[in-house]
Amino acid sequence: MVFGFIIGRRYALAGPIDSPLLHCGYSKADQEGDEELYFQCTKTYIDPETYEDPNRAVHQFAKELDASCIKIERVIGAGEFGEVCSGRLKLPGKRDVSVAIKTLKVGYTEKQRRDFLCEASIMGQFDHPNVVHLEGVVTRGKPVMIVIEYMENGSLDAFLRKHDGQFTVIQLVGMLRGIAAGMRYLADMGYVHRDLAARNILVNSNLVCKVSDFGLSRVIEDDPEAVYTTTGGKIPVRWTAPEAIQYRKFTSASDVWSYGIVMWEVMSYGERPYWDMSNQDVSNNRQ
Ligand code: AMP
Repeated sequence: MVFGFIIGRRYALAGPIDSPLLHCGYSKADQEGDEELYFQCTKTYIDPETYEDPNRAVHQFAKELDASCIKIERVIGAGEFGEVCSGRLKLPGKRDVSVAIKTLKVGYTEKQRRDFLCEASIMGQFDHPNVVHLEGVVTRGKPVMIVIEYMENGSLDAFLRKHDGQFTVIQLVGMLRGIAAGMRYLADMGYVHRDLAARNILVNSNLVCKVSDFGLSRVIEDDPEAVYTTTGGKIPVRWTAPEAIQYRKFTSASDVWSYGIVMWEVMSYGERPYWDMSNQDVSNNRQ
């Protein structure tokens, strides 16, 4: 609910479709600069780690795609588990769409395969215009792939730095509004992101911002901004709330703290939070 204060009220409707795993109401989303009020039922997020067989989680939440429907075109980035490529997805009876394809590098261990597919098990549970959309996975062929909607302008931090000073305040606030809508949806589902930062937001050709980078806490540990803290584990200190740094209390409220840092990143066109202060100074000055 905390993100509701940022983008407006959530109108909850009590009714026969409300249940502990599903609650419904009117929600505002921001797509292409237009505010839309739409009726939505929110499910509760299920942690894929609670599945004894992680393969079952993937197939419960993600569609298995036939590799022949995917055409890889070029490499666009380096992911934690392998290359990220752009390409096309053509499903039978549907128009072909641009996609990003995350691949799992050859020679992976079973644990790496599980961790890689975990992102798909999480992303596949979400359905919101400001959360990056999973098209499906390829697990029955090689390479193992995660297929995601293509976001033409890439990561928000790099995009803003490239276009320094070129947007109106309304456009910048529109980006923030979109991110807040996506984050409120995730918070309503009971999902705590833990690594909300402009580098983990993707931007499409219409300037729509979508929350991305889902994974377990160990995925966060691979964030280049994450550093070891005295409480154990690696944390992206500049983006993380004091209580999460001090005693690992990650909640939707600590995601709201990170959202505040993202607001600053957006309005400053991708400047580094706290400039050249050391991580130690950043956390000491916030106690
Ligand atoms: P990641 O492993 O998610 O951090 O992805 C690595 C890089 O690939 C990102 O920084 C983006 O530049 C790019 N990328 C990832 N997902 C997408 C996408 N859906 N659309 C376009 N580029 C993407």
